[in-house]
Amino acid sequence: MKTCSTPGCKNLAAYRTRSKPAYCLECIDRIMDKAGLVRLEPFSGPRDWMLTRCKKCGIEAHYRFEYILHKQEIGEPVCRACYWKHWYRDSWTKYSVGQGVNGEIPESVLLDVIDACGYVLLDMIPGDRRGEELYRVRCCSCGRISVERLGDIVWGCTCSKTTRQQRELCWKKLDKYVSPEWGNQCSI
Ligand SMILES: [Zn+2]
Ligand SMILES: [Zn+2]
Ligand SMILES: [Zn+2]
Repeated sequence: MKTCSTPGCKNLAAYRTRSKPAYCLECIDRIMDKAGLVRLEPFSGPRDWMLTRCKKCGIEAHYRFEYILHKQEIGEPVCRACYWKHWYRDSWTKYSVGQGVNGEIPESVLLDVIDACGYVLLDMIPGDRRGEELYRVRCCSCGRISVERLGDIVWGCTCSKTTRQQRELCWKKLDKYVSPEWGNQCSI
């Protein structure tokens, strides 16, 4: 085992890597803390999904330590609930347009689409405006919990992507209720 990649840290790294930095458990938790996350599960490897809680919004979701490191490097919030909320807000302040969906989707249609894409809905996270909702879902195949926009759900989990046919069917179901607000000038 190598020693931890943090300068000055003498602990053994908690995992092996060929060329990338590797950290000890103490430093892993310190890095996660800096990224705004609390680890809720034992660390088993940099590419394993780990259940975490966001210190800012309290949302619990799985992330890989590799992903956390990457987002830290580029200065982006790791928590996808915080990230997408910021992204929706940013669009209004920068471009005066929304990125949310325009229209109300009946719950039965929503649940049907989520189910067809291999997920179970855990929570709906309201946005600043209607149409900017985020969905906390669990993948039925791998059990991963993630925060998604409606448009991302349709693509399915990384472990079992939906087919093109499945996606088209979902969009057809949603199309009746949703028209993208993208491109419309803000009229508020
Ligand atoms: Zn260390
Ligand atoms: Zn958050
Ligand atoms: Zn999955």
